[in-house]
Amino acid sequence: MRVKSTLDFDPGTVAPLAGHWIGGRLVGGDRPAIEIRRPSDGQLQGGIPEAGQVEVDAAVAAAKQAQPGWSALAPRRRAAIMSRWADLVVRDAETIAREESLASARLIAETRTVDAPAAAEWIRFYAEYADKVDGAVTPTAPDALSLVVQEPYGVVAAIVPWNFPLVLAIWKIAPAIAAGNCVVVKPSELTPYSIVRVVALATEAGMPPGVINVVHGRGESTGRLLVRHPDVGYVTFTGSTTTGVQIMTDAAQSGIKPVSLELGGKNPQLVFRDHGDLDLVADSIAWGITRNAGQLCYAGTRLVVDRSVEAPLLEKIVQRMRLLRPGATWNAAATLAPIISRAQQDRMQRLVDVTVQEGAEAILGGHGFEGESGGAFFEPTVLRQLRPGMTGFTTEIFGPVLGVQVFDDDEEGIALAGHPVYGLAGSIYTRDLNKAIRAARRLQAGTVWVNTWGRKPADMTSPFGGFKQSGFGREAGRAGYERFLRSKSIWIDLGTP
Ligand code: NAD
Repeated sequence: MRVKSTLDFDPGTVAPLAGHWIGGRLVGGDRPAIEIRRPSDGQLQGGIPEAGQVEVDAAVAAAKQAQPGWSALAPRRRAAIMSRWADLVVRDAETIAREESLASARLIAETRTVDAPAAAEWIRFYAEYADKVDGAVTPTAPDALSLVVQEPYGVVAAIVPWNFPLVLAIWKIAPAIAAGNCVVVKPSELTPYSIVRVVALATEAGMPPGVINVVHGRGESTGRLLVRHPDVGYVTFTGSTTTGVQIMTDAAQSGIKPVSLELGGKNPQLVFRDHGDLDLVADSIAWGITRNAGQLCYAGTRLVVDRSVEAPLLEKIVQRMRLLRPGATWNAAATLAPIISRAQQDRMQRLVDVTVQEGAEAILGGHGFEGESGGAFFEPTVLRQLRPGMTGFTTEIFGPVLGVQVFDDDEEGIALAGHPVYGLAGSIYTRDLNKAIRAARRLQAGTVWVNTWGRKPADMTSPFGGFKQSGFGREAGRAGYERFLRSKSIWIDLGTP
């Protein structure tokens, strides 16, 4: 039997806020309509209400009412309130980390060290933007003064997936409100909790009611009502490519609203023969496909490797994957996260089985299983001989499944690393700087890492987003802020002197 660590937590002691957050207060918590199950043990955690037209109208109206006052506040005042909010997130970080882990696939070892602290850092980072982005005076003739000012859109709808529920919501909320917008967030109906706690802290920090609102519900119902709402001025979405298509269509049909879409990926890990330190490469690749059990849009799902190093590298990757310990999200020693739902586990199984039938060889794993805690898990899996056109190449599996493609010369490797549909991120491993830069320039992806994989959670400086069907628009960095502003040109005729 496992000895309980003092860092574990008992899910029975966590009492999340289970309602919408509209106009600065909890609403509808007594009307559960959607059951919430914990992925770790499959047990019923409780329920959340589902927002229909009335609640979506109320949330958008609260945001619309708050927005002129919020954007008219001196930017330094907005920044000060956000900074107080970040302090409260730090104060309550342990509670937030537990609520984030309770009914999601996020392990407590990460929500304590990454998600909760990173949420506070992101709020601070964007608070500092509130008075740092200038407008412009354009070089007109002397008889005119032409100003370009930056203005918020008004009400922003933010729609968020289940895989990193808190962090992905904050990536949107913090820059949107720093720029003077007000927000209505719809979390995933699978992972509704931590964001309500965090938004409630904004109210405690002095943020006026209505600046940030949360409505719960399914995508097809609540999500669509929100996207199509006539008073929403901008839609920012993270999730699957299929949903992205629907959202873009709805946003176009309901007023030509601008959208930013962060969608799926089939991200290559391109390993040239000259890297030299296969241990480092194996660490990076194993982590890049098993973090959050591969339920990560920028997971490094395709190893594209020079044939001469394939065998020794795979041996090291497999060694590392075998060391992972599946466990409940509240088990501080667990290193392999559960799968978000049985349905998702079944889907993974189908995609892996079909890829094997198509000719790939499973040299590790390949199966879903029930963990000791009772939840759905999936074995870390390596599929050799993956070829373009196979299901595991074309389709985002969204699990700990690494497909392996080999090449014989560098040109072939760079070509194989590309993907016909997705272009979110990719990694390149080589000691040759010129080769790294040439390959990075040719990869059709929004982010390329060299000799590493993944974003550093507390470093928000570089923009993140996709090429092709991985979406458009950028989260993070200055671009992640500026997308929430639109320019207005003011032309003043100075007359003839
Ligand atoms: P999903 O598209 O099923 O759902 C995402 C969100 O959209 C949920 O809140 C859902 O309720 C809502 N939704 C669904 N249909 C909707 C509709 N018609 N209108 C409005 N809202 C709707 O995605 P998911 O399964 O929650 O998340 C996994 C997907 O997200 C993967 O494809 C993954 O690659 C992607 N993802 C991308 C990024 C990125 O930054 N590019 C980050 C994380 C996840």
